[in-house]
Amino acid sequence: MEKENKQVFTTLLWDVDGTLLDFNYSMRHSLRRCFRSIGRPLTEEMIEGYGRINDSYWKKLELGEITRKELLSARFRDFFAEYGLSGIDEEAFRKEYETGLGNTYAFLDDALTIVKSLQGHYRQYVVTNGVTAIQENKLKLSGLSEVMDGIFISEAVGSDKPSRTFFDCCLEQLEERDRGRILIIGDSMTSDILGGIQAGIRTCWYNPGKKKPAYVYRADYEISVLQQIYEVLQIFV
Ligand SMILES: [Mg+2]
Repeated sequence: MEKENKQVFTTLLWDVDGTLLDFNYSMRHSLRRCFRSIGRPLTEEMIEGYGRINDSYWKKLELGEITRKELLSARFRDFFAEYGLSGIDEEAFRKEYETGLGNTYAFLDDALTIVKSLQGHYRQYVVTNGVTAIQENKLKLSGLSEVMDGIFISEAVGSDKPSRTFFDCCLEQLEERDRGRILIIGDSMTSDILGGIQAGIRTCWYNPGKKKPAYVYRADYEISVLQQIYEVLQIFV
């Protein structure tokens, strides 16, 4: 690996769901497992419906409108109501779903190979909004925790991306003091990019669908495949 030009970044902060790991894969897998165990049918439309409800609650959490506890129960309450699913033990379903989420993973692009190739050249951390037990499991199983120099999960930190509190808590534990040498890479405009901008670090928007940004936040870099991180870092492999 050769670096052209002077190295600017020393530290990379990676989002997990939708960036290094395919969240939708874990979600589908876990939902299917739960529905099999309660012996009810699960349609593609229901999976999409759940994804939509789940996303809307995570957006509310990012905006500080609800707590994580409310999110974890409200998403299933709404989902069951929307699809007329009654007589389900919500608590048991929720637990099984969360266990399933932490037990399955799939990489996006060549995420593991990429972060491994950067090991030793950059300090790398995970910054993720999520439930500690689920994320820790997934990161361990996938081998990502071994590659990372540290892991910051919002439940454990006590606040969520994009809040300043979350980023300040993480950044003060890093060796790098110059925020201009820290880059966050993530797929969410509202949590990763906005959070990075507010924290005064550099931002790289991972936009695999080449969607038009739904928000006006301007990331310093935009990539549509993770391999493009080498160009951002000006590394030629
Ligand atoms: Mg994400």
